[in-house]
Amino acid sequence: MQALVFYGSHQLRVESVPDPCPAPDEVLIRVHMCGICGSDLSGYLGHSPRRNARVPLIMGHEFSGRIVELGRDAQRRMGGALAVGDRVVVQPLIACGACPACRAGRTNICPNMDVLGIERAGAFAELVVAPVNRVFKLPPETSDLDAALVETLAVEVHVFRSMAPPLLRTVVVLGAGAQGLLAVQLAKLAGASLVIATDVVAQRLERARAMGATHTVLSTAQDVVEHVQALTDGWGAEFVVDTAGAPAARQQAIAALAPGGVLALVGLGKGETSLNFLPVVNRELRVLGSYAYTDDDFLRALELITSGHVQVRDMVQVARLEQGAEFFERLTTQPADLVKVMLQPA
Ligand SMILES: [Zn+2]
Ligand SMILES: [Zn+2]
Repeated sequence: MQALVFYGSHQLRVESVPDPCPAPDEVLIRVHMCGICGSDLSGYLGHSPRRNARVPLIMGHEFSGRIVELGRDAQRRMGGALAVGDRVVVQPLIACGACPACRAGRTNICPNMDVLGIERAGAFAELVVAPVNRVFKLPPETSDLDAALVETLAVEVHVFRSMAPPLLRTVVVLGAGAQGLLAVQLAKLAGASLVIATDVVAQRLERARAMGATHTVLSTAQDVVEHVQALTDGWGAEFVVDTAGAPAARQQAIAALAPGGVLALVGLGKGETSLNFLPVVNRELRVLGSYAYTDDDFLRALELITSGHVQVRDMVQVARLEQGAEFFERLTTQPADLVKVMLQPA
């Protein structure tokens, strides 16, 4: 099969590799589309030690496809729920199931987790294998393109389900890439009357407004904290979602929070951020990290996309798998016009 293979910092090549073969409890899937994640981009730049340790590696964990083969025990394990020919989406996190986090249902923070496209071969390829219990059948009305965005949305579903105050008034979303645009939509669904999106790129803010942001702030030209204060009569935001992960965004987040407010940190960022923790203490701010999602978050994301409550199509550009290296480079150098790029094998 053809696959986009990562060899280390800035080295991606499309080449022929052997077809993968499903183990007894695995499923072989023909990939329809696979999205390029921000974490794949940091891998491409050489900033992901987990990926660097596995080269040569086929990345890609945001994908939809069709089952072409079931391992010997796969059908029985799923009670016959999956069959060859089914259109599917894959939850790519393979938690151990045995550690205290897994036993508590917090599979997203399992320290022994394998991820397709990181520890195991991913879906920037014509074919991929996945454990059968990671495979979810698509409703007929969910398109292959929409399905490939389920994983991305699941990240924000986890944030809003586990961290957002109920029926909140004011949400600030820092960063208007794919995660930020999905956070804007979930903030609207959660009932927020003020949804303020920020970014360093003006084009992204246009998209944020189209997807429901009531206000936007170009953070290179305007003061985010001043804007939030002005829009909330000096009170601040109840909930801030940081999808950017940059030190400046994290500092703005703390300063923009209302007393008792909650900050959810989603953007991975890199390096250190210096923060003044005095306001965290004396305004009782809650600063929470959020990582990935559980199966239940993933299913909820699939439902939200299928029902049309969350729109993903407008943020997607589809390219051919052979253009993978070119689009990785474009996303890291001039991402303004691109939000989510999906690679499609021939
Ligand atoms: Zn991802
Ligand atoms: Zn575990």
